[in-house]
Amino acid sequence: MKALPDRRGYFGEFGGQYVPETLMAALDEFETAYRKLRRDRSFRRELDSILEDYVGRPTPVTEAVKFGALCGDFKLFLKREDLNHTGAHKINNAIGQALIAKRMRKQRIIAETGAGQHGVATATACALLGLECVVYMGEVDMARQELNVFRMRLLGAEVVPVSTGSRTLKDAINEALRDRVTNVLTTHYILGSVLGPHPYPMIVRDFQSVIGREALAQIRKRTRRLPDVAIACVGGGSNSIGLFYEMLPHKSIRLIGVEAGGRGPQLGEHAARFSGGALGVLHGTRSMVLQDEFGQIAETHSISAGLDYPSIGPEHAHLQKLGRVEYYDCSDELALEAFHRLSETEGIIPALESAHALGWLLRNGRSIKRNAVVVANLSGRGDKDVPQVMALQ
Ligand SMILES: *Cc1c(COP(=O)(O)O)cnc(C)c1O
Repeated sequence: MKALPDRRGYFGEFGGQYVPETLMAALDEFETAYRKLRRDRSFRRELDSILEDYVGRPTPVTEAVKFGALCGDFKLFLKREDLNHTGAHKINNAIGQALIAKRMRKQRIIAETGAGQHGVATATACALLGLECVVYMGEVDMARQELNVFRMRLLGAEVVPVSTGSRTLKDAINEALRDRVTNVLTTHYILGSVLGPHPYPMIVRDFQSVIGREALAQIRKRTRRLPDVAIACVGGGSNSIGLFYEMLPHKSIRLIGVEAGGRGPQLGEHAARFSGGALGVLHGTRSMVLQDEFGQIAETHSISAGLDYPSIGPEHAHLQKLGRVEYYDCSDELALEAFHRLSETEGIIPALESAHALGWLLRNGRSIKRNAVVVANLSGRGDKDVPQVMALQ
């Protein structure tokens, strides 16, 4: 299989660089720096040592015997990204990009955040590496996620309220892109998922692929074989592509991505881009986008803020088209049920995002063959979601 993306940043017909001319030079500079640093011994050593000594990698793989038994008749292993410093996989990418920025001598970092998870990961990486950090966040999200706003400020970041549009994530991204164009020489924009213009989807994927690389080795050691199934939730798509990427060449492994089914199939009630979306361009990349009949970006809904985005990473759109990865969705209700069941049976409170993958297994696990080895990515811990779930009781 040829390595993707191609030179122009496409995965098949998806991806590319749909940005103003003023940003092209910055994207080129970022790609050139990355391609050079990827092979640079001292860069790799620095990254690896931070991942090991600070983030806490490798994260373990835990067999979930009791929760697995609720799902079906197979062996279920959880890849424990919830045990990373800051509680999710996002730190893998934030550290990687912050290190590149430092080598490019950009002292100022900007980021956007919806629920605040990517903002916290970025603020953490910047505190560690001594970089200035500005995080754009919609006013609505700031009110919903007070605790993360305070956390980012504790970490030394400036949080800038965005009062345009729906005052949520997509407006924060627009604002961050504007800042990036204005301060192109001094600033690096750390994007939080496999979204945006090339080279972001490639670079974020590469930094997250440590998840699947470790998981393959750990599962092989434990079971003396390859997993039969790998499953993860899909927001922008970074934790899932991180799990899948090294498994793509192993054709025997069934790969499953789970999107947010929300409250139901009506536009505006979910974030299921494959069943409800169409080809479109959003935030610099061509992919499947939730939009109305006039091409206006649709509102989305999910119980989990991290899955609540109208587009999906272009590589996922390609893998779906190829049929290499299967995509399904899981409703709010089913995710919530999985959230409770995993907590009770395993003593692990999962992020509501990760609970979507577990919910799919609860509902559909009986169709998986006996004694199969299944690895599910536990992309984050649920502590951040406890107040929200408590309010639902
Ligand atoms: C942000 C987030 C997600 C969704 O983002 P992806 O890029 O699709 O991984 C999933 N799980 C957790 C815990 C998150 O914080």
